[in-house]
Amino acid sequence: QTVPIKRALLSVSDKTGLVDLARALDARGIELVSTGGTAAALRKVGLPVRDVSEITGFPEMMDGRVKTLHPMVHGGLLALRGEDSHRAAMDEHGIGGIDLLVVNLYPFEATVARGADYDETVENIDIGGPAMLRAAAKNHAWVATVTDTEDYDALLEELDANEGATTYAFRQRLAQIAYGRTAAYDAAVSTWMAGAIGEAAPRRRSVSATLAQGLRYGENPHQSAALYTDGSRPGVAQAAQHQGKALSYNNLNDTDAAVELVAEFGQDRPACVIVKHANPCGVALGETAAEAYARAFDCDRTSAFGGIVALNRPLDAETARAITGIFTEVVIAPGADEEARAIFAAKKNLRLLTLDALPDPRAAGPMLRQIAGGYLLQDRDAGAIGMDDLRVVTRRQPGEAELRDLMFAWTVARHVKSNAIVYAKDMQTVGIGAGQMSRLDSSMIAAVKAERMAEALGLPHTPAQGSVVASDAFFPFPDGLLAAAEAGARAVIQPGGSVKDEEVIAAADGAGLAMVFTGMRHFRH
Ligand code: 5GP
Repeated sequence: QTVPIKRALLSVSDKTGLVDLARALDARGIELVSTGGTAAALRKVGLPVRDVSEITGFPEMMDGRVKTLHPMVHGGLLALRGEDSHRAAMDEHGIGGIDLLVVNLYPFEATVARGADYDETVENIDIGGPAMLRAAAKNHAWVATVTDTEDYDALLEELDANEGATTYAFRQRLAQIAYGRTAAYDAAVSTWMAGAIGEAAPRRRSVSATLAQGLRYGENPHQSAALYTDGSRPGVAQAAQHQGKALSYNNLNDTDAAVELVAEFGQDRPACVIVKHANPCGVALGETAAEAYARAFDCDRTSAFGGIVALNRPLDAETARAITGIFTEVVIAPGADEEARAIFAAKKNLRLLTLDALPDPRAAGPMLRQIAGGYLLQDRDAGAIGMDDLRVVTRRQPGEAELRDLMFAWTVARHVKSNAIVYAKDMQTVGIGAGQMSRLDSSMIAAVKAERMAEALGLPHTPAQGSVVASDAFFPFPDGLLAAAEAGARAVIQPGGSVKDEEVIAAADGAGLAMVFTGMRHFRH
């Protein structure tokens, strides 16, 4: 049924739109009740408002921890007006009904995001607000509950359309939103605490995120989509966009893949990653950012068209000029100088994003993915090995330059969808095989890619000659390894651990390869 609104309780931390809303409610003859700060804001503009403390007969106390936690408030929110016994209780205790609750909560998420200390963060856990939201939402048969400032207009439209009353369907919708908000709020508290106390186990963690923006569409135009931020790590979700159209779902996903990989190289040497369809199509280090870009581009010039470029250094003019040589969707870097920005400004469709900081690739945290009927939660793949962890299993030892290239190829391979095979030489990928259902097929594709690179650059022979090769998981049979040897690879890095390791090692020895085991695999699906 429709319920006319006679009395409203307003208690908001975010005072956006508050005065306009309160004025509109007051103009409809609705009595306003508020907590301290909210009441002060309303009085300042001359609106009549009663203090909650007058209704409860208690002052707000304990630094605001106890303001509205009182039967005079919760009775007014929870009473079933149609129930005789509830009405009798209201009469007996002088409890007035509250027909509209407008509450937004202490800005807990923003407090965490600005890096407040532990005690201040705890103080920003709202208690009375969620209690009221949950009470009013439960009693949606009688009470309208508004918690999103974006819903103020819809509320006023509803009142206009129903002579100052709200409909049941409207109150149901608001209740559903309110429970979503309190659930997300508590999840944010738990997520923050998990970080604060170092609780890492996925089964003891919850994840929470805040809607950042709606996206035009999802992976395909008929899918709707939105971006949520959780503030857990710096990265694409926090990047500043300087030009170009809004980012799409695929742009964000691909840009993330590019940034996560480029961040692996730290900032000691310029690095560049070009991503297409969430896989790197070229990765390289260089003496300068421009050289790194050129070398990444050379790996697969065809695929780089319409790609996402990530740098680990601020974008400079020389690199910007090189990038504008072909169509590129997104460029992301930890900063961009003025000259570089001016060069990009001429390319209206090119999006330029800058990051305050690169994400820490070794940071712990949860990763979420959906399956039908549920979610899978796991730790991020933050595991890593160093040079010292490598175990040489072949007769031939890899040389120093080979070792560096092996580590480079290994780093790239963990960011390539499985099965991943990566050829590299002189800190440049020269052939990437991604996402095949058989490792052998990925090996062959990577080798073919290297041949194409030779064709495109007019090289006398495939750059796989004398290269190193990385495999994200063990070779289950010698065939994939032999395909790599045939393509020209001289050294191999792989986790090891197959029941056929002996055979694979023998094959490597037979082909004169040097091979190292990492003892850790990096599936990426
Ligand atoms: P105000 O700015 O009006 O003083 O305070 C508004 C904020 O107080 C709102 O975010 C609301 O959720 C919160 N709030 C209302 N009642 C209580 C309470 O009893 N305890 C706590 N901790 N917060 C409350």
